[in-house]
Amino acid sequence: MTKSSAITQTTTDRAAYLKKLAARDTAWDILVIGGGATGLGIALDATSRGYKTLLIEQADFAKGTSSRSTKLVHGGVRYLAQGDVKLVREASIERGLLHRNAPHLVKDQTFIVPVYTLWDRLKYTIGLKLYDRIAGKLRLGPSVFISRKKTMEKIPGIKTKGLQGGVLYHDGQFDDSRLAINLAQSIWEGGGDAINYVKVTGLLKDEKKSVNGVTVTDIETGITYSFKGKAVVNATGVFVDDILQMDKPGSRKSICVSQGVHIVLNKDFYPASDALMIPKTSDGRVLFAVPWHDKVVVGTTDTPVDEASIEPKALEKEISFILETAGTYLTKKPQRSDVLSVFAGLRPLAAPKDGELKTKEISRSHKIIVSDSHLFTILGGKWTTYRKMGEDMVDRIEKEKHWAYKASGTSALHIHGYAMNMDWNDPFYFYGSDAPLLRMQMNGTAHEWISEELKIHKTQILWAIEHEMARTVEDFLARRTRALLLNARETRRIAPQVAAIMAKALNRGQQWEDDQVKTFTQLTEQYILK
Ligand SMILES: Cc1cc2nc3c(=O)[nH]c(=O)nc-3n(C[C@H](O)[C@H](O)[C@H](O)COP(=O)(O)OP(=O)(O)OC[C@H]3O[C@@H](n4cnc5c(N)ncnc54)[C@H](O)[C@@H]3O)c2cc1C
Repeated sequence: MTKSSAITQTTTDRAAYLKKLAARDTAWDILVIGGGATGLGIALDATSRGYKTLLIEQADFAKGTSSRSTKLVHGGVRYLAQGDVKLVREASIERGLLHRNAPHLVKDQTFIVPVYTLWDRLKYTIGLKLYDRIAGKLRLGPSVFISRKKTMEKIPGIKTKGLQGGVLYHDGQFDDSRLAINLAQSIWEGGGDAINYVKVTGLLKDEKKSVNGVTVTDIETGITYSFKGKAVVNATGVFVDDILQMDKPGSRKSICVSQGVHIVLNKDFYPASDALMIPKTSDGRVLFAVPWHDKVVVGTTDTPVDEASIEPKALEKEISFILETAGTYLTKKPQRSDVLSVFAGLRPLAAPKDGELKTKEISRSHKIIVSDSHLFTILGGKWTTYRKMGEDMVDRIEKEKHWAYKASGTSALHIHGYAMNMDWNDPFYFYGSDAPLLRMQMNGTAHEWISEELKIHKTQILWAIEHEMARTVEDFLARRTRALLLNARETRRIAPQVAAIMAKALNRGQQWEDDQVKTFTQLTEQYILK
């Protein structure tokens, strides 16, 4: 691995970096459209095999679904209940690998399923033992039945009427957008290219009508470029059909979109260190309450939506469902004014061929399709399996293109920031191996806290610009740190200070600074409940 100075060159002067990319006169081997979990996983796999790789993201890395998950690296207890053992096996292996390769971001989290009937006690005890067995050596810890008394001790506030006890099991818990940023850094360090705020607007084709590149627009300047790629991959999540339309207008819809919403509350609503898993709420959904940073994330919903949007909005009925349902399991019933942040994400689910399956029942497995013009598209999947999705896609490209097989290097690749023995209570844990250097820089400017509540320091802003390709106030407050998801009102207060520091560091004028504050303040309206 190269040192962080290599990253600095790539990220501080984005204009020069883009110019360098545009000046390249030979094709990249693999060109990936989309900088979420899926695209980053593919680009990292391709880079690990020595392919010249370029990833292009229209907004910020993980701006789409990949920053809006439940933050679980999981085998998927729900998929086991649906009998999808293959998916659970695959996800359990990937959970174990990710825990090994990014131990600074993925932690072993205990979950408790409270049980109220003898049947549920049997079902979940046996089911979760099976869950452990499926994961084999890569399981995180054993599942056990715990008594009623212990369940009540562990989850103060749990509904006690009819409570028989609980089943305690292990899954992984992580920080999704931080992992995405670390994956981009790993791509740079491995010699690959990845850039944000560049939108693909069209596909280029050769004389045989095979896709051999893309046309793009730099969102910051409006300048257009063409990039050539021997293989072009569409990894745009809920937007895959837009790219498929560019390839073949009139293509059949390949994706169903399902929205999921979470709310974030203070820890006093759920002071436990074990997460809570309710396998079946009143309307048959799964509900989680997961400790995250020093707050608790509660969700989610599963609402089919017609239109994909890069900034989806929580529906009133989703918010009331979570508040109502969570109220029966938390120490006190949360009110709208207690919600620190509400965020919505869109699941890109591979559309079933026929029949009217409910989105809850559509498989979360990924699917690769190759068009007549050799555009490679990947559908579905989940964060947990991003690495396997990357490996499968590059295997498929090699096969279709008749390239010699090269082994993927990602199953044991340490992700940027790799560090062991984390102190999860350290507010800067998520920087992993970067934390000591960041702290050293912070020591010189100890008084420059922007928010004590959110533990945001001026040095982090400069770090995010210099090493993590942060370009806007939102990039910093939503994805380089998780401030927007942890306390949206507080981010609205500090946005002007963040904008001023960024404007200076990025050499931008007053107009840019004012626009940033305005745009970010408007955005917070969606995350704050009135
Ligand atoms: C509510 C919810 C909870 C979830 N919880 C979990 C969980 O706990 N654990 C888990 O494993 N999985 C979870 N998932 C699933 C997981 O988050 C997704 O499968 C994953 O993030 C999808 O990643 P993606 O890269 O395919 O899509 P995205 O993250 O949406 O990335 C696609 C990217 O493509 C870019 N793009 C689109 N068009 C263009 C263009 N023209 N040019 C350039 N770029 C373009 C977009 O800007 C976007 O950034 C959850 C999903 C939801 C919705």
